[in-house]
Amino acid sequence: MVESVKPNIKDLSFKEFEAHLVELAEPSYRAQQIWRWLFQKRIASFSEMTNLSNALRERLTEDFTISRLPILRQADSIDGTVKFLFGLSDGQSIESVLIPEKKRLTLCISTQAGCGFGCAFCATAIMGFKRNLKASEMLDQILEASRTLGERERITHVVLMGMGEPLANYVQTVRALEVMTDTTWGIGISPRRITLSTVGLVPQIQRLMEETRVNLAVSLHAATDELRSRLMPVNRKYSLKELMECCRSLPIPRRKRITFEYVLLSGVNDGKQDARQLSELLRGVRCKVNVIPFNPHSGSEFQRPTAAQVGVFERVLHDHGVQINVRRPRGDDIQAACGQLQGEALRQKGHASSTSAEA
Ligand code: SAH
Repeated sequence: MVESVKPNIKDLSFKEFEAHLVELAEPSYRAQQIWRWLFQKRIASFSEMTNLSNALRERLTEDFTISRLPILRQADSIDGTVKFLFGLSDGQSIESVLIPEKKRLTLCISTQAGCGFGCAFCATAIMGFKRNLKASEMLDQILEASRTLGERERITHVVLMGMGEPLANYVQTVRALEVMTDTTWGIGISPRRITLSTVGLVPQIQRLMEETRVNLAVSLHAATDELRSRLMPVNRKYSLKELMECCRSLPIPRRKRITFEYVLLSGVNDGKQDARQLSELLRGVRCKVNVIPFNPHSGSEFQRPTAAQVGVFERVLHDHGVQINVRRPRGDDIQAACGQLQGEALRQKGHASSTSAEA
């Protein structure tokens, strides 16, 4: 007989857990107490839940496990950026990056192990798609990174910009967002402080904007279909026209803007003409552009443009009235660009990287 594996309590939704408590003849308010222990006090065992009866603590211990994500590697940059490589229970690994800025502490989390979208410049793409993360695995990245912080430090912002495509893992991502944003029993981060970045999956973008209040970032990287399809194969499915029509019609509140991300690749998409075409494409969309000078990695021949090239691109957009923000490269010394720490660990182990695209 196969021994049944206990479920991880964090894989139940709040509602599912409430229903479980009813079956145990416990009052449903216990669900809130228990969820607070898990997501606010971040305890790691049921025995620490001191406002529950011993009998209930024992029962929960029999029924469930409480997951942890072991840190396989941690890299600290001189600029304060910290990168974690977490090990998943099935041997896969994922990355998160903690980015301190003046008044914020942002955690960048992964939503899939690997990625199947094959963007030409991305280190994660080289690995191919491994699997979707469960909501608990997204939340555990926040809980584990929080555990490494000092008493008075707190993660203030979360960006879903690590490994993987969040909207290709829609259900688990929205489940995780619910726990991240709930202030009564969840982690309690305002949706205004959470940004989800996507390659541009049109139907899921529309659904996300209806179902949540998180900020949207769309990876654009090119202003023509010809170039974008070369850099991002997903463009063959959702063209720029479809993507921009979607962005124009989203029910976004007045003071909010969509962010467009634009990785600057030297000699590929960083010319004056590219900047002019980009400003044309964005005309009439309430947006800002995050320009990210390419983060070089050993799996790619693209190059980061010089500061002068970046400056020219920035000026043309600015002159055309586009709100633009050039991202300072962070964590260069620890290979903080998406997928790089994992790539490094695999190379050191002598693994060949998979290039299958299953997503
Ligand atoms: N799949 C989502 C989120 C993960 S990638 C998306 O594509 O938006 C987060 C951002 O980092 C994307 O804009 C992506 O294009 C960008 N990116 C990936 N590799 C990069 C690199 N080497 N240098 C700079 N930005 C990179």
